[in-house]
Amino acid sequence: MAEVLKGKGVGDAMKERLAAKNAELVAKGVTPCLNIVRIGERPDDLAYERGALKRFEGIGIEARVSAYPEDITWDDFEKEFTKINDDPGVHGILLFKPFPKHIDEDAVKRIIDPGKDVDGMCDANIAKVFAGDETGFAPCTPTAVVELMKHYEIPLKGAKVVLVGRSMVVGKPLAMLLLKENATVTICHTRTADLPAECRAADVLIAAAGAAKMIGAEHVKEGAVVIDVGINLDEEGNLCGDVDFEGVEPLASKITPVPGGVGSVTTSILAMHTLMAAERSLEGRGQ
Ligand code: NDP
Repeated sequence: MAEVLKGKGVGDAMKERLAAKNAELVAKGVTPCLNIVRIGERPDDLAYERGALKRFEGIGIEARVSAYPEDITWDDFEKEFTKINDDPGVHGILLFKPFPKHIDEDAVKRIIDPGKDVDGMCDANIAKVFAGDETGFAPCTPTAVVELMKHYEIPLKGAKVVLVGRSMVVGKPLAMLLLKENATVTICHTRTADLPAECRAADVLIAAAGAAKMIGAEHVKEGAVVIDVGINLDEEGNLCGDVDFEGVEPLASKITPVPGGVGSVTTSILAMHTLMAAERSLEGRGQ
């Protein structure tokens, strides 16, 4: 039976540390604050927003929501966004994507203050992540994967890690974070010639493909650690990961569940990044 690596344990362990850092910053005169920016009312965004607000409240960090109608014009959005971006009381900004078609994501990436870009969307942060520069914010999900593995003491140095997925949100930045931990990383995608064989070579297999239950027993070496980043709906409309949990669990030594795995750690990372951004704003004031 595989050990099930729950995200809750990671969030609980981080909570005390983050609350202490928040209190330390407040005592120094900075009240860390996240501003969530949402356009429209997509159920996924609203669910994540609720989770983030609950997490921030639990830790004691301030979080605001700026929500705009789906049909907001680019000019109006830019004006509103610039106010938030320039507000010295806001240290972190989380934007829900994708934006409606008429809101230019690239333009937003160019405008956002890299120091407030706590979900690592702008080029300056991504470049730092690829350069191994820790002052850059990586997106929260790949950071959550690494945090979860560190929490459960999964050895990464010299480990063969196979990643399925090469997006800029998960796969590619995660590969860079894993390289920084001295893992040997293989990145797979839809054109990988023999996906099951590549995956079977993994000590740690990470699925971030967005394809329900696509990773089965044929992809997993006995004793491997399996991390599931996917959030999908199965044929019955139930939430599921990229991994066929029932098929893979008997082979794996450790496995993350969906829901309740990686996804539940991301809001703690968002809080950690917000505190880091607030602390840097203090350094900027020479304190
Ligand atoms: P994308 O669709 O942007 O990227 C998916 C990647 O997986 C692509 O590189 C694609 O390859 C690859 N892929 C898809 N299907 C297969 C397949 N059958 N075989 C091999 N490779 C495949 O998705 P994201 O990276 O944005 O998200 C991935 C998953 O992670 C989704 O389920 C998403 O919901 C989840 N997610 C979870 C988060 C969390 O907080 N836990 C946050 C963000 C995402 P190619 O490049 O060749 O097309």
